[in-house]
Amino acid sequence: MFTRRDAIKSLAVGSAATLFSPNTLLASLAKKKDKLGIALVGLGYYSTDLLAPALQMTDKCYLAGIVTGTPAKAEQWKKKYNIPDKNIYNYQNFDSIANNPDIDVVYVVLPPSMHREYVVRAAKAGKRVFCEKPMATSVADCKAMIKACEDNKVKLAIGYRCQHDPNTQEYMRIGREKIYGKPMMIACGAGYVDGRTTHWKQKKALGGGCMPDMGVYALQGARLATGEEPISVTAQAHVIRPEIYKEVEETMLFQLQFPSGAMASCYTSFGINMNYLQVNYEKGWLKMEPFSAYGGNKGSHSGGIIDFPIKSQQAKQLDEDCLALMNNTQLIAPGEEGLRDIRVVEAIYQAAKSGGTVKISS
Ligand code: NAD
Repeated sequence: MFTRRDAIKSLAVGSAATLFSPNTLLASLAKKKDKLGIALVGLGYYSTDLLAPALQMTDKCYLAGIVTGTPAKAEQWKKKYNIPDKNIYNYQNFDSIANNPDIDVVYVVLPPSMHREYVVRAAKAGKRVFCEKPMATSVADCKAMIKACEDNKVKLAIGYRCQHDPNTQEYMRIGREKIYGKPMMIACGAGYVDGRTTHWKQKKALGGGCMPDMGVYALQGARLATGEEPISVTAQAHVIRPEIYKEVEETMLFQLQFPSGAMASCYTSFGINMNYLQVNYEKGWLKMEPFSAYGGNKGSHSGGIIDFPIKSQQAKQLDEDCLALMNNTQLIAPGEEGLRDIRVVEAIYQAAKSGGTVKISS
């Protein structure tokens, strides 16, 4: 695979002179870093409450920069996290991050409809990219993001923190190793009561709706427990509070059929608190509750319990993804994993609209 290091070598002999600016070249030629510098794009709830605190616990990366449209936030973050002015960007001058050797990874934490633009701009700036879930609002956008990263020889990881959690990895192992035979029936629910009325989660154009937001957790629960990709889906969208949910679904029920014959009933909502995964295998059962919360996922199965301690899913995710970048090894959840979910999400919307069964092509 052609790496950034290879690109620098090519540049040195003059064959790729347009790829990097002199600043970037100098930085890249500097000694190998033992910690990657991360710039968070979008300083909302998730960046503020989870990612920035997690970046104080990481070994392989640190909070090096921010991208925000709000000058007051820039001031607060600068003071709180000791971020130099030269590492603070807004959405207009963001592309000049290409010339900043302090920033190795751009982490896009914006509303889903904005993911494509900022992932593509980060890739064009020559930065490795992390992007929050849901990856994007369409399969076409996911593909464009993957292509932009490939074209610019940078890696892309999706922020599926649960896949880094040993509790998730354990229920995946039980399915993969067929400890209780084949998974037969899955029930999975992920939802919470969102009291907001004008947030992007209630707006179609920004990528709102419970399906892409919490629904991807229920979908991941079913996909990861079976280790299979669904082949067809039926779905029903519901709104309990029409005064709030005018543009997007408040609740979605969806049923997945898997190639092995396994079936999943999944539930997601912005009006119902739930977080569980239940699997019935040929010869046993598993129940995780919660299965996709930030801390303390736990469960039990026919032969024991699942309760591995974890200090911070986000810190583990950030460290593992950065280590994979440093060692040029496989990422746990690359762009293709985000695309797999969005392909199903698109089929779920089609099924809910048509009332019929929608086949999912791979
Ligand atoms: P948020 O609304 O709290 O923050 C969004 C940020 O984007 C804000 O700083 C806002 O100012 C900025 N922004 C820029 N342009 C905007 C626009 N046109 N409209 C609205 N906001 C705009 O959202 P959040 O909860 O932090 O979610 C951000 C991303 O993180 C989403 O993709 C979400 O799904 C994801 N997320 C992931 C997890 C997880 O567990 N992995 C948890 C929460 C959120």
